Amino acid sequence: MGDTPPREDSLTSLCVGCGLCCDGSMYRHVEVGGDDRIEILERAGLVFSTREDVTSFRQPCSAFGAGCCSVYPSRPSVCRDYRCLLLRRHEAGEVSDGEARAIVARTTALRDRVRPGLRALVGSDGPESLASLYRLTLAQFEALPDPAGARREHGELLLDVAALRVLLAREFEPRDSRSHQPEESEP
Ligand code: SF4
Ligand code: SF4
Repeated sequence: MGDTPPREDSLTSLCVGCGLCCDGSMYRHVEVGGDDRIEILERAGLVFSTREDVTSFRQPCSAFGAGCCSVYPSRPSVCRDYRCLLLRRHEAGEVSDGEARAIVARTTALRDRVRPGLRALVGSDGPESLASLYRLTLAQFEALPDPAGARREHGELLLDVAALRVLLAREFEPRDSRSHQPEESEP
């Protein structure tokens, strides 16, 4: 998950200012393990829940702000170990530094357009994930007398949402992660 206080190696500076794996764009929940310092994380505002013996906290992560992880020294082990697909490809030399930074810049620019747009539509100022905001928006449209008209009226925003989801799925989401739950897999 986003490492904003920089790690030792320069490659992970790609994460600085990104935070797509912390801000609810990619995930709705993050699972924690037995070695994690839950009490410290709770003091930072993280809210944990346990279901079927799995403890997790919701995203957007309340420790993430202004591109930074405020609990960096005590961040959960899954956050320490996390590498999105782009970061792993970057570290493997498959994607150049410039290309990787351009992908992050393009994706975060879309995120920064889409999230406020969806929030304004659904009237939410709460900590909603991207998937939740999108679902709320579509449900709101469907409740209107003319859902197709509403979708046309906000077509540009919906196209941005689609472009953002494609970028996230294609460039960022690891396919072999067992530690995180992609948004779409959540109820
Ligand atoms: S999504 Fe990838 S590049 Fe962005 S902060 Fe997370 S690990 Fe780093
Ligand atoms: S604890 Fe830190 S690294 Fe982990 S999701 Fe929250 S902000 Fe990201």
